[in-house]
Amino acid sequence: MSEQSAASTSGSGPVPADRDALKELSDLRYALDESAIVAITDQTGKITFVNDKFCRISKYSREELIGEDHRILNSSYHSKEFIRNIWTTIASGKVWRGELRNRAKDGSLYWVDTTIVPFLDDKGKPIQYIAIRYEITERKAAEERIRQQASLLDKAQDAIVVCDLKFHVLYWNKGAERMYGWPLSEALGKNLGSLILQDNPDRVHEIRDALEHANEWTTEYIHTKRDGSRITVQARWTLVRDERGKPDYFLAINTDISERRRAEEHLLRAQRMESIGTLAGGIAHDLNNILSPILMAVEMLELKNRDEDIGKWLDVIRKCSERGANLIKQVLTFARGMEGKRITVQPKYLVKDIIKVIAETLPKSIAVDYKISPDTGAISADPTQIQQVLMNLFVNARDAMPDGGTLSVAVSNATIDETAARGNPEAEIGDYVVISVSDTGHGMSPHVVSRIFDPFFTTKEVGKGTGLGLSTTLSIVKSHGGFVNVYSEPGRGSRFSVYFPLDEVADGKETAESAERSPIGNGELILIVDDEEHIRETAAAALESFGYKAITASNGVEGLASFAENMESVSVVLTDISMPKMDGPSMIKTLKKLSPGIPIIAMSGLMSAEQKAAIESQGVRLNIIKPFTAQNLLTTMAQALKSK
Ligand code: FAD
Repeated sequence: MSEQSAASTSGSGPVPADRDALKELSDLRYALDESAIVAITDQTGKITFVNDKFCRISKYSREELIGEDHRILNSSYHSKEFIRNIWTTIASGKVWRGELRNRAKDGSLYWVDTTIVPFLDDKGKPIQYIAIRYEITERKAAEERIRQQASLLDKAQDAIVVCDLKFHVLYWNKGAERMYGWPLSEALGKNLGSLILQDNPDRVHEIRDALEHANEWTTEYIHTKRDGSRITVQARWTLVRDERGKPDYFLAINTDISERRRAEEHLLRAQRMESIGTLAGGIAHDLNNILSPILMAVEMLELKNRDEDIGKWLDVIRKCSERGANLIKQVLTFARGMEGKRITVQPKYLVKDIIKVIAETLPKSIAVDYKISPDTGAISADPTQIQQVLMNLFVNARDAMPDGGTLSVAVSNATIDETAARGNPEAEIGDYVVISVSDTGHGMSPHVVSRIFDPFFTTKEVGKGTGLGLSTTLSIVKSHGGFVNVYSEPGRGSRFSVYFPLDEVADGKETAESAERSPIGNGELILIVDDEEHIRETAAAALESFGYKAITASNGVEGLASFAENMESVSVVLTDISMPKMDGPSMIKTLKKLSPGIPIIAMSGLMSAEQKAAIESQGVRLNIIKPFTAQNLLTTMAQALKSK
């Protein structure tokens, strides 16, 4: 009721009831006229009344409107279905509420929030309709703007999140859904700390403290996704204040920088490797020059020496120098990279063969489990080097499980697509054969994982690891055009996956498969003579795994005795060159007298030209350089048997 009409009512004494009612009605109409757009129609929809506001907004005169249908305002925005729903609602005597977009006489468009009330006769049939509308054009425009902005925010790759001051999520764009895996419906209202900062939910306090001092704050942190995986995120936080300057809400724009960080780490590692490689390569070269004369001098002294005591000391010098030379060989491999021969290799057979050997030498507390996909393709590789890679990985897996566990090996084809390639800068798009070696051991921290391929980096006790195994592994894999992926978690084990490019040409060729299978024995007895126990044992285990029988001796004297005892049955003698009591060449000389045709394979850590000449002069054509692989040994053994 207006103030004016209230004043005119006061002080005029009692008035008749119908005058009161009329006055009340006129006040109501006045109030309605001021605020609402009103129209009345008959039951067919023909307009019988419009108020001033209706005329103003529609830009039609009252005369133009009376007798017309509301169709005159129709902007063709709403569907037939929508209009039909208005009519069926009101025709059944019910009130219809909704938003309509209308067109004014001059063509301009406006939105009205509309209520249509049917007035019914005694039988409940509508006799007229009253439409009361409020203009909402501005609100609709604001909503549309917000919708457009929201769709723009949804297009952003970044996660855009708005939280109240207690970090409850108020807004969560599509980017956030994609980045964290939580759909909007589940994220809304949740505490951001428990949603994406599971490692440290209290970090929200840190964010709040930082934003109290500065309205904007950029930070880098590890966030957790819905599936539990972690991503490195650069978060740009803003504290948004209301018009009075009071903190209102937090806005975060988060970018997933995991890939960028991985690529940077990779680059840093590559640079570190390159400089260490250059340095180590130079040192190794110098050391080789120092060690070679020591080795040669020791040999000369050994030849001249008749004193047993001095002989022992010379032996120590020679062995240590040989160890040093071996180490240098590895350093040079790492520094210069691997060249080696390339033939078609079927990893499914190679891995199976090597598992047989490793299973023999592992402690009983370690179970070996393998899954080799029969359709695994071929690769172009140096089989000896691939065996070295596998041996390195197996030894590491074994050492990571001192209390036992499971060593699992899997071989299969793998395709690296664009997404997968982005995860590892060394990986190129294409088809690969992947060999994965997993253990259930102590695992590694992310810091250790970031260093494991650095030469000389080792977590093993002094004397137990050179720190060259994995750097050599990486060097070999890279020289084959492949790459290595590592996954490890402290306390949960590690998985090393080595990827070698699939050799499309050779793939599927039967000949290639059979060519690569290790030649196996047929019960032949092999005499192994070596003073190093672990060499004797692994060589015997390897031979026995592949169809041979083996007997061992730890020096030349024992070797001769054993040969004399089993002369009829021994097929091949595999002997070390440098041994205490009686060395290889002396033993070979006597052996040849006992059995001139017996095939002999000489093995050595580092065979000098003189040694080679000495054994060759006794008819020994086959030799094998330590450390050798089972494949090496089996191939050389097959050659020895053929020469018989
Ligand atoms: P039409 O083809 O005319 O109608 C679509 C469907 O609606 C038809 O197939 C039919 O099922 C149903 N229908 C149409 N007319 C009738 C009728 N007389 N009786 C029963 N069913 C029918 N329209 C606006 O665009 N803006 C408005 O603000 C607006 N306000 C209205 C207020 C009142 C009080 C009333 C009664 C109607 C109002 N209308 C309004 C609806 C309007 O009268 C027209 O029906 C509509 O604009 C016609 O749209 P059309 O030509 O696309 O569809």
